[in-house]
Amino acid sequence: MTGSRAMFSRHPLAQGSLYVSCDDGWLPVIDDCLTRLESFGVPIEIRRIREKMGCLQMSIVAPTTLPTENKIRWADIIRAAEETALKTCEVCGAPGRLRVSETGTYATRCDLHEVI
Ligand SMILES: [Zn+2]
Repeated sequence: MTGSRAMFSRHPLAQGSLYVSCDDGWLPVIDDCLTRLESFGVPIEIRRIREKMGCLQMSIVAPTTLPTENKIRWADIIRAAEETALKTCEVCGAPGRLRVSETGTYATRCDLHEVI
């Protein structure tokens, strides 16, 4: 979470809830997603970026003025990033997978960070 301020400073079009509720291993995934969304040249309204049940969930709203075709691409970019996060350790960014602990906690982790 410590690196999120620096990340958002690189994305001047990002606005709204500039806070991420996940560990730093996913920041490069989010960073890349924001870079792709910036290619539309419109404000990026962030409602929520968080970890939930081991998955990255990003609620990022496209402007209503964006053409439908671009709104579809917008949603595809976000979905692709969420799928990438499911293969990325939330702690360190190494390749990982969704795991569930004996107590029922879900987390996407690499082998090194397997203990939840
Ligand atoms: Zn890891």
